[in-house]
Amino acid sequence: MGRKLAAGNWKMNGTPAMLDGLKTLSAPNGTQVLICPPAPLIHRAAQIAGPVAIGGQDCHTQASGAHTGDTAASMLKDAGATYVIVGHSERRADHAETNAQIRAKAEAAYAAGLTAIICIGESEAERLGPDCLDIIAAQLDGSTPDGATADNTVIAYEPIWAIGTGRVPTLDQIIETHDMIREKLTNRFAAQGTTMSILYGGSVKPSNAAEIFTAQNVDGALVGGASLKPDDFQPIIDALAAS
Ligand code: PEP
Repeated sequence: MGRKLAAGNWKMNGTPAMLDGLKTLSAPNGTQVLICPPAPLIHRAAQIAGPVAIGGQDCHTQASGAHTGDTAASMLKDAGATYVIVGHSERRADHAETNAQIRAKAEAAYAAGLTAIICIGESEAERLGPDCLDIIAAQLDGSTPDGATADNTVIAYEPIWAIGTGRVPTLDQIIETHDMIREKLTNRFAAQGTTMSILYGGSVKPSNAAEIFTAQNVDGALVGGASLKPDDFQPIIDALAAS
């Protein structure tokens, strides 16, 4: 069992006015709540977020240098972030990010004192094929640094075909995949792997969160669309707290 984390990914959405909504979110005892707004809002978000932690959506592999448009992990930290998402499937697709780059980004996050949320997950064709679990295991292995601990790393399993589509794997598929991830983490990282948090992501809503959280190795959720409105995100947080 890892830390219980309800993480919201605002993607390229959000205005300063929306930050007021953060003040209405509560984090019940034993549950951590995180919002990852677009980078320009991180500083303001961190100033008003109260019990809500703030994270970035990506960081560069390097600490500084000639990388126009990119953000170093230390800059996110300076702005008030404590987490950063790396390897989201939209970054993998839009920016052709490889497992090796994502591993390097996670290492950059560690160096800056951030917890890395490392995203993995299969395409629909891969889900329908015979090697789905092997493909996810290879992503996990390739994207996770040797220095990963339960403190500096969270794994997010996000089937690409479930992100923003309203489609969700069956509970049995979620259980099977998260159990496999837990086994791999435990084999590689021993005690740290037994308590590294594993989130499920992909069309988590107030209506399906409680069922997803019944899975033993689902420690929380990475939530896109439903994290934009406190009225949708808070019931997901509360379902996690009750699980
Ligand atoms: C995501 O952005 O990581 C995500 C899971 O999005 P959604 O909840 O909208 O499917």
